[in-house]
Amino acid sequence: MSDEFDVVVIGGGPAGYPAAIRAAQNKLSVACIDEWKNYDGSTAFGGTCLNAGCIPSKALLESSELLHRAQHEFKAHGIQVGEVGIDVAAMQKRKATIVRQSTQGILALFKSAGVTPLQGHGRLLPGLKVEFTAHDGAKRTLQAKHVVLASGSQPMELKSAPFDGERIVDSWGALEFDDVPKRLGVIGAGVIGLELGSVWRRLGSEVVMLEALPDFLPMADAQVAKEALKHFGKLGLDIRLGAKVTGAKVSKGKVTVGYADDKGEQSLAVDRLVVAIGRRPYTRDLLAEGTGVEVDERGFIKVDDHCKTGAANVWAVGDCVRGPMLAHKGKEEGVAVADAIAGLYAEVNYKVIPSVIYTAPEIAWVGLTEKQVKESGRACKVGNFPFAASGRARAMEAPAGFCKVVAAVDDDEILGVHIIGPMAGELIAEAVLAMEYSASSEDLQRTIHAHPTLSEALHEAALSADKRAIDFPNR
Ligand code: FAD
Ligand code: AMP
Repeated sequence: MSDEFDVVVIGGGPAGYPAAIRAAQNKLSVACIDEWKNYDGSTAFGGTCLNAGCIPSKALLESSELLHRAQHEFKAHGIQVGEVGIDVAAMQKRKATIVRQSTQGILALFKSAGVTPLQGHGRLLPGLKVEFTAHDGAKRTLQAKHVVLASGSQPMELKSAPFDGERIVDSWGALEFDDVPKRLGVIGAGVIGLELGSVWRRLGSEVVMLEALPDFLPMADAQVAKEALKHFGKLGLDIRLGAKVTGAKVSKGKVTVGYADDKGEQSLAVDRLVVAIGRRPYTRDLLAEGTGVEVDERGFIKVDDHCKTGAANVWAVGDCVRGPMLAHKGKEEGVAVADAIAGLYAEVNYKVIPSVIYTAPEIAWVGLTEKQVKESGRACKVGNFPFAASGRARAMEAPAGFCKVVAAVDDDEILGVHIIGPMAGELIAEAVLAMEYSASSEDLQRTIHAHPTLSEALHEAALSADKRAIDFPNR
């Protein structure tokens, strides 16, 4: 096998593997190196997203939501079932199958595109060389014309509550529980904490979430965050804001968590504790001396707006560089870099990266919040439409939440769209497309939406920005 490639990608997650496939589509010779190992020692491409993040979490969110609906919603439809329960082993087996299908799919995609998969560790050496160490220890040095670093991120640990893999776990551990903990503590009420807390709450755990910040979901639109907190409270998630965890101790199979809030020192006893306080870039043993690639004080690989590092022909994409830690952001960067290497037009529009929280109700947004627009000094108009006024949402027994459109007063451009409600993560795609083309709220207003659909709520929210909504009183 040749050790010379046009492109060597280090990391086979959702940033690295699309970079490899697009580079091969661009008729370049490509190798993709990945060192991922599962708990059982098996290797797999796909990184955090496929093995321990997006995909397994969505599998468990789906299973647990179905159970919740069977318990709480079926009655309203007139469906009579006996006692419903969960077989955790079967649920986990289904999840594992989905993960395996997805990760094996990457190998099939590599084969069809002509990407050389290399499983083991990659390390960038000076002169566009990459040292590859296979899992059996065998070493090879590859010569590349371009190197793409896509080494991803890892969960942050709280020093005073270290992971033990059993009682105090990270987000991956929380996707692998083989029984439903009676009492579950979650540190961090961010996106990952909320999704994991929702899964186990719906399956029957008493869930207490400790969040250091006084505000709930500060990155989301304030109206959405307020609505979300209300619904999560109804689900039974005990979210304690302004609760800064100071430490946790395991004793006799229980975890005692210490935290400080405005009433002073508090303590909480749980059966398991999930630490979901964020992720940090991962670059362990990735860069040899003298490569010219720099890392900033928070550990991110330094890149410019086009994902170029300080070293010629070395690029970096995904969670290991600045910007939101999202699979689709990494994918766009990976693809753009592979196009740029081939001399094609390439650009990532960082202004329209959607965010989704896969809770129930689901939350999704793109662009600026109402507060951000106001703080920027630009006058804006806001349109709202509640799903309670959507025939389709009512038919789905999912009337919670609303669509919100924030548009500029001067030229009517849509500046942000915020959705909480059924299928919000799917609905946001229309807003992303609209904003990608700098659409005005009038463009959205004049676009025909099929009836009865959830997407009509977005249409009506755009109309409501000009007080022209039909299906809800304009205020
Ligand atoms: P990773 O997915 O971390 O992949 C990096 C890969 O590189 C890994 O396989 C790693 O083993 C390998 N690697 C690292 N260093 C080397 C080396 N030196 N040599 C060889 N291989 C190396 N994002 C979303 O957009 N939507 C979601 O719904 C979502 N849900 C999530 C749920 C959870 C529980 C978690 C933890 C994350 C979630 N994310 C979600 C975030 C998403 O998983 C990450 O943003 C994404 O995986 C980052 O992609 P990446 O390719 O940059 O890095
Ligand atoms: P995210 O960045 O979306 O993954 O969310 C992580 C959350 O964890 C943030 O909202 C942080 O404020 C929160 N967090 C970080 N450290 C602590 C801590 N010691 N105690 C409680 N919450 C924390």
